[in-house]
Amino acid sequence: MKEAVGKIVKVSGPLIVAEGMASSKMFDVVRVSKENLIGEIIELRGDRASIQVYEETGGIGPGEPVESTGEPLSVELGPGLIESIYDGIQRPLEIIKQASGDRIGRGIVAKALNREKKWKFNPTAKVGQKVVSGDELGFVQENKVIRHKIMVPIGLKGEIESIEKGEFTVEETVATIKTDEGSVKVTMMQKYPVRKSRPYLEKLPPNTPMVTGQRVIDTFFPIAKGGVACVPGPFGSGKTVVQHQLAKWADADIIVYVGCGERGNEMTDVLNEFPRLHDPKTGEALMKRTVLIANTSDMPVAAREASIYTGITIAEYFRDMGYNVAIMADSTSRWAEALREMSGRLEEMPGEEGYPAYLSSRLAEFYERAGVVKVLGSTGIVGSVTAIGAVSPPGGDLSEPVSQATLRIVKVFWGLSAALAYRRHFPAVDWLKSYSLYTEKLGSWYTEELGQEWNGLRTMGMRLLQEESSLEEIVRLVGMDALGDRERLVMETAKSLREDYLHQNAFHEVDTYASLKKQLRMLKLILFFHDQGLNALNHNVEINEIISLPVVERIGRSKYITEDNMKAFDEIEHEIKRAFTELIG
Ligand code: ADP
Repeated sequence: MKEAVGKIVKVSGPLIVAEGMASSKMFDVVRVSKENLIGEIIELRGDRASIQVYEETGGIGPGEPVESTGEPLSVELGPGLIESIYDGIQRPLEIIKQASGDRIGRGIVAKALNREKKWKFNPTAKVGQKVVSGDELGFVQENKVIRHKIMVPIGLKGEIESIEKGEFTVEETVATIKTDEGSVKVTMMQKYPVRKSRPYLEKLPPNTPMVTGQRVIDTFFPIAKGGVACVPGPFGSGKTVVQHQLAKWADADIIVYVGCGERGNEMTDVLNEFPRLHDPKTGEALMKRTVLIANTSDMPVAAREASIYTGITIAEYFRDMGYNVAIMADSTSRWAEALREMSGRLEEMPGEEGYPAYLSSRLAEFYERAGVVKVLGSTGIVGSVTAIGAVSPPGGDLSEPVSQATLRIVKVFWGLSAALAYRRHFPAVDWLKSYSLYTEKLGSWYTEELGQEWNGLRTMGMRLLQEESSLEEIVRLVGMDALGDRERLVMETAKSLREDYLHQNAFHEVDTYASLKKQLRMLKLILFFHDQGLNALNHNVEINEIISLPVVERIGRSKYITEDNMKAFDEIEHEIKRAFTELIG
């Protein structure tokens, strides 16, 4: 499609200004110079367009042509997405590498979805059926794990005229739909502009947790399916391990991982490591339910800006099939730096620390695309996108603008602490600073699944941890002797909560995941011991006798009890009872 052809008047890094662009629109994708660099119009004044270019602009100069494609930056959605590794503008990394070697060349056009591959389309809708946007026409079993639903594209409704079973490429017609405007051919591929959220019927309140098997998260700082969370990651605090654990264990059907050019080698780590991870539930490679979007360090900053939209649009697409999707963006700080750089070059009025004034609203726009929704279509299916953003504030200082803006939006904050990591307490989620605003909303779900006692136990556990922190202050000032017996017991129980419960070894075969049932049993053991201890103190038993009971060690090892051996918890409970009965005499 030939549209406006303009001329470059200025090049400033990733920003190009071109004139003669009057007939183009904001956010149109353009091809810059004879090298065909990909860019996007981010400002239009009269016939002058400011263009954010997603590739290196070295050697490009005034006078060269700029051609608008007349289309907004879009992603291709269809079979083949799963297991793909893309750059920020959805070019498959493998294919660009083949085309240009390890350093990505310029102006490479690579289709996001393979055009030759044939997929087996299994129709589920019938000729004569009335359908609306989002309705299922059929599916492709993309791999063992993912049933890729082929949906009526957004904006289309009518009656199915034809629908074919068989093997098709993503560009071949699988069905035709008779609409008011005539017959429309439907393929298995849809295109969708990344900066627009995909429509749905209704947003629903998040009321189910996304269970992660990580005790500190599920018990104390749960995230709802469709919720929004952020995790700051000072270097070495275990951020990568937390993200891997979430990707592996969270009960999400699909994972979209967006790596926005963290320090160069980190993205390479993700690219090397992710494909090696296995999904513990299916035994299959984790990639079989993952889409990776990676900006390696040799890509210009502008591509980071796009990557987060590319990622969330893909996440919404799978949500529309009724899946629970988790998107992880690592890190939104790097993404915000890209915004800042472009804003600076546009000579916009800078806000705090040079970030543009619209930083907060852009961040909010991203997180707002998360949620639980009743998806388009006539069947009332529900899907969700849960968004987890990592922030990497310089020096770990959360008072900087990106962290602050993020904290105003997200409802869960898992504060990773460098101090805890230094003490090798992992996951290093600081239980005193972290929070989840979903705890109350999820309360009734937990009560239904785990019984009446759960919410009380978690409150009690947190109270003891908080009390420990104030007692520690006293101990620091005047020593352990200043504490009474009850306080000593609190300190012991809190220590058990920290070391036996919150501490969870991601690399231990059994400990790496704890079901909610197991979490309940463990928490109950620790707090049951505490109650029994208090009772014993009331019967004048010595505190030292209580804390040196041999059963304490068995409680500590309860994390290694396997999921199929829950009766082991009954045994320990009996032993606690027995031990205290003996003590009290
Ligand atoms: P970051 O990405 O924040 O720099 P990593 O996630 O690579 O840090 O973690 C650093 C190291 O901490 C890991 O190599 C591992 O030894 C340890 N670690 C982190 N989390 C855990 C965990 N949950 N269980 C056991 N070890 C952990």
